[in-house]
Amino acid sequence: MAAMTSSASSAPAPRPALNRRLAEFGTTIFAEMSALALRTGSINLGQGFPDTDGPEEIREAAVRALRDGRGNQYPPGPGVPELRTAIVDHQQRRYGLTFDPDTEVLVTAGATEAIAAALLGLLEPGDEVVALEPYYDSYAACIAMAGGTRVPVTLRPSDGPGEGADEAGGGRRFRLDLDELRDAVTDRTRLLLINTPHNPTGTVLTRQELTAIAELAVERDLLVVTDEVYEHLVFDDAEHLPLASFPGMRERTVTIGSAGKTFSFTGWKVGWVTGTRELVTAVRTAKQYLTYVASGPFQYAVAEALRLPDSYFDGFRADLHRKRNLLGDGLRAAGFEVYQPQGTYFITTDITPFGEKDAYAFCRALPERCGVVAIPNSVFYDDPDAGRSQVRFTFCKKDDVLHEAASRLQRLAS
Ligand code: PMP
Ligand code: GLN
Repeated sequence: MAAMTSSASSAPAPRPALNRRLAEFGTTIFAEMSALALRTGSINLGQGFPDTDGPEEIREAAVRALRDGRGNQYPPGPGVPELRTAIVDHQQRRYGLTFDPDTEVLVTAGATEAIAAALLGLLEPGDEVVALEPYYDSYAACIAMAGGTRVPVTLRPSDGPGEGADEAGGGRRFRLDLDELRDAVTDRTRLLLINTPHNPTGTVLTRQELTAIAELAVERDLLVVTDEVYEHLVFDDAEHLPLASFPGMRERTVTIGSAGKTFSFTGWKVGWVTGTRELVTAVRTAKQYLTYVASGPFQYAVAEALRLPDSYFDGFRADLHRKRNLLGDGLRAAGFEVYQPQGTYFITTDITPFGEKDAYAFCRALPERCGVVAIPNSVFYDDPDAGRSQVRFTFCKKDDVLHEAASRLQRLAS
């Protein structure tokens, strides 16, 4: 009855619709910046999606599946057998990793659902998750939804060119401080959330770094969720090494892949998880109450895509390598500091050479100044100072679009 007698001014504030776990999350930066690009008619080098669809024969495979009535009704919960087998064969062929298609593979609605289901299935409230910062935005939201606590370990630009400096400028690149990683692990740590090749920095973790991560995971008995959606996008002398292939890791690692990045069909939302039966069962238990299943006919098409010859994967990589150099040259000429990526289809830059420090303000103003949209990396950090002046551009666009963007960005130089 107290509420009825208290004055209006002391009434408690109405409870917000959004729960406390998600209160810090607004609209994703990708949606915000793509809307800005549309509104201003700018070239969108923000959200990472190709402006050319993947192979024609794979599109045709999807059409055939639709027409033949394959996947038009709910596919099996773990994914269609053709795709699960193709995923297993791909892991075997590329990395020598062996999985049972019936119990150790799960098809998901993109890597996004795989991340969500892995964290919801593996974490208890209060568990700590050590994640590399800057982190892909859904990690923070999914850790929060699972009731976990994120503990970032910040990747920082190296002082020198580092391992694998290449023809296109060497330059500084982001490195993982292994001591910082060790120090981040506590008795409450349940899992390490790793991403290599890494979005947004383009860093590809080296054998030495991965060995140290694996040793730490074994020593502290941690699970590892590793997001390897850019596994096929590595350049120069960098090599993608799956964490699951390191000693002691197969039994503690959930590996996430996606057709969106590898085959340029980001709208199809076909992703997957591989791991031990126990781990995959945990992920599937959460996943079955998220979407249950998705993308039926596309699953058949992706099964065919994973069986494309090496020439497809090599050609795709060579094409993006060239585009990386094209955009990187344009960004350097415009005056950005460029952190040379060895993987993904993103370039992280620094705007300090322009006398500017606030990436968010810079990105909001960029359409008006140049007709180009980019992503402020600052939103991918818990430590706002660490990424305040970083801006990310994607190069998965047609050459003429990249040329035009580079020429527009020259306006910053004048
Ligand atoms: N992980 C990373 C690192 C990404 O960059 C993305 C976005 N492409 C995803 C996961 C989500 O992938 P998907 O589109 O398959 O859900
Ligand atoms: N992964 C894409 C990127 O980093 C965006 C995907 C999304 O919009 N959720 O640009």
